[in-house]
Amino acid sequence: MAKIIDGKAISMKIKDELKEKTAKMKSEGINICLAVIQVGNDPASSVYVRNKKNACKYIGIESLSYELPEDTTEEQLLELVEKLNKDSKVNGILVQLPLPSHIDEDKIIESILPLKDVDGFHPQSVGALSIGQPGFVSCTPAGVIQLLKRSDIEIEGKECVVIGRSNIVGKPMAQLLLRENGTVTIAHSRTKNLKEVARRADILVVAMGKPKFINKEYIKDGAVVIDVGIHRMENNKLCGDVDYDDIIESVSAITPVPGGVGPMTIAMLMNNCVESVELQKK
Ligand code: NAD
Repeated sequence: MAKIIDGKAISMKIKDELKEKTAKMKSEGINICLAVIQVGNDPASSVYVRNKKNACKYIGIESLSYELPEDTTEEQLLELVEKLNKDSKVNGILVQLPLPSHIDEDKIIESILPLKDVDGFHPQSVGALSIGQPGFVSCTPAGVIQLLKRSDIEIEGKECVVIGRSNIVGKPMAQLLLRENGTVTIAHSRTKNLKEVARRADILVVAMGKPKFINKEYIKDGAVVIDVGIHRMENNKLCGDVDYDDIIESVSAITPVPGGVGPMTIAMLMNNCVESVELQKK
């Protein structure tokens, strides 16, 4: 019987641990503050921003909300980030992506002070991860590591295959598995013999953005499968990049969609906000 990795329960436990930590910090006079910036009113972004603000409230992190109109210029946004960079009360700055097309996303990410880059997207954060220095780690892959560790799944020495090489999921995921002493392969859209490569995996992390793509032909018997993908189907239900029903008999553990990786992203963002205080002290 496959173990179903309960991301909802694990993320809740992390949030409760953070709530306790935050309360203790408050009693010592330390407040944590996250600034959340949204440009325009893309409905999906609004839901993400609302969820992040709610998580802050639950944990006891102050959140400052900046809802800017769609026609905000790049200069205006850069000015706001600069103001928040300089504000010692603000520990973390999050700019909700995607931004409208007239704004250069990379330029905005690079304008955030790395010490406040709680999304972990700044080139300095990415570089720090690859050379093992302290810094913020992209939340979704950090959440996957927590799912594995808190489910007692050992990474060290295991064959880990990551399908996807995006900057926010695939690449940092591979770096983190490497940091945990996994033997890591990154597969992507130009990989030849994907089935063969995927079947090498003791731990298979799928982040390819293709609904139900991975079926049992890609799975070694007894593998652990982490499904990062999230898609809304025509019947309005959610599914992942993995064909859950097809592979469930072949795996030893699996994350469901919804309720697997999804809830971990915000929990790890909250974790980064709490950790920012330590990092900024140093
Ligand atoms: P992306 O589109 O930026 O990257 C997809 C990657 O998959 C690419 O590197 C590409 O090379 C690879 N790929 C695409 N088709 C392939 C194929 N046929 N064979 C092998 N590799 C292939 O996507 P992303 O931002 O990394 O996100 C991936 C998925 O994860 C999406 O479904 C996204 O919605 C989801 N996601 C979920 C969370 C969460 O919190 N659960 C967070 C981020 C992304």
